[in-house]
Amino acid sequence: MKSKEREDFKRKQWLMLKRQIEYCYNNSPFYQNKMKNHDIEPGDIKKPSDFQKFPFTRREEIYLSQQEWPPFGNLVAASQSLWNEVHTTTGAMSQPIYVVWSKKDIRNTIDFVSRSLSRLGVTKEDVIYNVFRYGFRMGGLTVHRASEELGCLVIPVGAEGSANSAFDLLINLNPTVFVSFPSEIFKLKERLELRKINPRNTTLRMAVLGGEPGTSVNQIRGVIESTLDIKVYDTYGITEMGPLIGTECLCQKGLHWAEDYFFVEIIDPVTGKTCVPGQMGILVLSDLSREAMPLLRYWTNDYVIMSESLCECGSIMMRTEGGVLGRETDIVSFKGRKFYLLELQEILWGFEGVPGQEFRLILEGGGPIGPEICFLQLESIYERSSGEEQEYADKVVDLVKNRLGINVSIEYVPYGTLNKYGALSPKVSRIIDRRKPDNMI
Ligand SMILES: [Zn+2]
Repeated sequence: MKSKEREDFKRKQWLMLKRQIEYCYNNSPFYQNKMKNHDIEPGDIKKPSDFQKFPFTRREEIYLSQQEWPPFGNLVAASQSLWNEVHTTTGAMSQPIYVVWSKKDIRNTIDFVSRSLSRLGVTKEDVIYNVFRYGFRMGGLTVHRASEELGCLVIPVGAEGSANSAFDLLINLNPTVFVSFPSEIFKLKERLELRKINPRNTTLRMAVLGGEPGTSVNQIRGVIESTLDIKVYDTYGITEMGPLIGTECLCQKGLHWAEDYFFVEIIDPVTGKTCVPGQMGILVLSDLSREAMPLLRYWTNDYVIMSESLCECGSIMMRTEGGVLGRETDIVSFKGRKFYLLELQEILWGFEGVPGQEFRLILEGGGPIGPEICFLQLESIYERSSGEEQEYADKVVDLVKNRLGINVSIEYVPYGTLNKYGALSPKVSRIIDRRKPDNMI
């Protein structure tokens, strides 16, 4: 990516980052201490490569800071009079952390989220069916505000997505854009079929999905697009930084990053150095203008692959190929094999069996208990006979063996047992590891 426009942009972005480093040093005790501990002052970071000396910020540090100085820790850089809104992480992996936004932070969020939706062709003529959670989660509120900004009619479905009344709104208010977790769109298909409505015959024309990986996997996307006759776009957000920080464009060739609000790096987790184009690494984000609780070099734990080629859409914003590929913590080790949860998801969601099949992996045994065993729980699906279920299970066992090299035993659980967890916390809901730690690889 070497266009003049891109170079000009990078120069402006660097000035923003330098200002933000100074702002954090002067106003956030957390960053002042962190920089002092690493013997760095803002003046030492004179050129972009110097930023690599800057230490990463890990989730655990934020959590510990907030335990010591509740509620927001010593990260806060703005006085309480500027605090406007609070969000929390799910607490799926550990205790939740709190994130506070100022009015300016909210305005900025509206700006890049509405811009992302607009680039996907969302206009004031659209009706948005917003299934992202409201309440203290950030997705629902921000997509709502951004849609308002574009002049759209918004249906604030949120957590009530599974209620019949919400489904009635989908039928009666003719929504055109479905915004949700990937698993929700599969549930939509099931609900339509239960009501004997052809999933291809809704008024929806596109889905903007995020909150869990998988959308950029072509097989999964293809199944959703053909089943519902809509276009599907992937997005990425993280509560600590913001929603829809990365979004696809109409070309659907990876996520473009909102680099005018975030300094985006992809870091090799082994060396801690910047990845070369095409190399997979951890997404590391720095706020360029956040006021209330800015973060610098935040280690997201999410794997991405950077692309250097310009996108056909003409955007100069950095692009990563294939969306977010999974979390550092989503690597499963079993009998010497390692695989990403997303690979299992791709097998289950990507073939013609049951798109969006909810699942849970249970690992047992090890140590004195005996050999390690891997169970794959699947939900029984309505309208499927026990013979058909056995046939489907056999196919899954074969595919998992061929692609991941592991033997799984299928265990069916009643429909709805796993759904309620699915979109909220993939790691907790989709993996239960009961093995003896000393036998883990
Ligand atoms: Zn593009």
